[in-house]
Amino acid sequence: MSNYDVIIIGAGYAGSVMAEQYARDGKRVLILEKKSHIGGNAYDYMDMNHIRIHEYGPHLFHTNFKEVVDYLSQFTEWYPYEHRVKGLINDKFVPIPFNLTSIEELFDEDKANELKEELVKEYGMEKKVPILELRKSTNKEVKDLAEFIFEKVFKYYTMKQWDYTIEELSTTVTDRVPVFVSYDDRYFQDTYQCMPKEGFTRMFEKMLASSNIEVRLNTEALNVMKFDFKNHKIFFEGEEFKGKVIYTGLADYLCGYKYGKLEYRSLWFDQKEYEGTYQTAVTCNYPTPKEIHPFTRITEYKLMMEDKENPRTTIHVEYPYRYDENAEKGNIPYYTVFTEENKARYEKYVEELKVFSNLILLGRLAEFKYYNMDAIVLAALDKYNELKKD
Ligand code: UDP
Repeated sequence: MSNYDVIIIGAGYAGSVMAEQYARDGKRVLILEKKSHIGGNAYDYMDMNHIRIHEYGPHLFHTNFKEVVDYLSQFTEWYPYEHRVKGLINDKFVPIPFNLTSIEELFDEDKANELKEELVKEYGMEKKVPILELRKSTNKEVKDLAEFIFEKVFKYYTMKQWDYTIEELSTTVTDRVPVFVSYDDRYFQDTYQCMPKEGFTRMFEKMLASSNIEVRLNTEALNVMKFDFKNHKIFFEGEEFKGKVIYTGLADYLCGYKYGKLEYRSLWFDQKEYEGTYQTAVTCNYPTPKEIHPFTRITEYKLMMEDKENPRTTIHVEYPYRYDENAEKGNIPYYTVFTEENKARYEKYVEELKVFSNLILLGRLAEFKYYNMDAIVLAALDKYNELKKD
C-alpha cells in the first residue's frame, strides 16, 4: 500500500491549494510536478539585478473575494499594487482598457468631447461595455467609435494572441477588457489589488510547507502512474491507488489524445536587460498587426515591484505561439482556446475520464477554463469542501 491518502498532479494554484487543505486535515499528500519548480505558471524569481521576474509572464493579483485574500494571507504579506496598461494606438501609448482618457489623447478636443458625451449619454459614467456590445450601438457616433476601438485595440491583438478572429472565439475572451466609460485608468477595478511581498513562489513554498506534503519535482505523472481505462482503476508505482487523485494537467494527454488534441495557446518571452527604465507603463500592449510588431505586449518587471528604484531593468517581450509540447518555443500550455470545436472535444474527454470515480479534474488546463488566480483559489477551496462531504 502506498503511504499517501491523496495524489495531486501539478503544483500550481489548483494543486497547491488542494494539497494545503488536505494536509491541514492530517492527510498525507503526494504532489507530482513535471516542472522543476512549484507555483505553476505563477512562478517567479529574483534575477541578477534584484528584479523579480515572472518566468511565465506577468501575474497580477486582484480579487473581489475577501475569502481568497484571507486564505492566501496565511502564506504571504502583501504590498499594494494596481496594474496599469497602455496600448499603442496611432503611434501613441494610451490607457487600456480604452477609456475616456484614451479618447482625449487620440482625438481633438471638440471630437473628444462629442464622443465622451455620447458614451455617457448612452451608457452612463463608470459603466463597462464589452467591445462586442459597443459595436451593436445604433448611435452613429458610438458605432464609429466602437469600430475604431475594435480595429485599433482588439482585432490584431486577438489575432496575434489566439490565431483566431474575435468572431471565432467565445465572447468571454474580449469581455475581459471592456471599454470603460470612466477616467479610472486601472486595468482592474477589484476591491483587493496587491502583490505578495516576497513573490508568488515564496507564497507557494509556505502553502506546501506541511510535513504531510511531499513534492516530487521533475516528475511526469504518467511515468509513475497508470490510468487503466478498461478496468477503471488508477495505479501508482504499480499498485492500485484508491485515494483521491487530483489532476490539474491536460485532459487530452491523460486520454492519449484519443479524440484529437485540444488547442492551447502558449507564450514565449524574449527577456532583455537595459540600463534605466524602458517604458512608461508596467505593461505596454501592441495591438498592431503582426507584420508591424510580432509580439503582443512588453512588461517591465521592476515597475511592479514594491521598491522600483533600480539602475537596471529587465523586460519581457511577449510572443504568442500555438502550444506544441515538442516545439522549441511554445511548449508550455497557458491558455485554453475557446472555440466551439475545442469545447465539444473537451466534453468528450470529460466523459471518457468519468470512469475513474476517484479522479478530479481541477484548474485552467484540466477544466479547460480561463481562470484568474483568485478564481482558481476559490474553485479549489470549494472543491475541497465538496469532496470533504463524500
Ligand atoms: N485584448 C485585446 N487588446 C488588448 C488587450 C486585450 O484585444 O490590448 C483581448 C485579447 O483577445 C486578449 C483578451 O482581450 O486575449 C484578454 O486580455 P487580458 O489582458 O485579460 O489577457 P491575459 O492577461 O489573460 O493574457
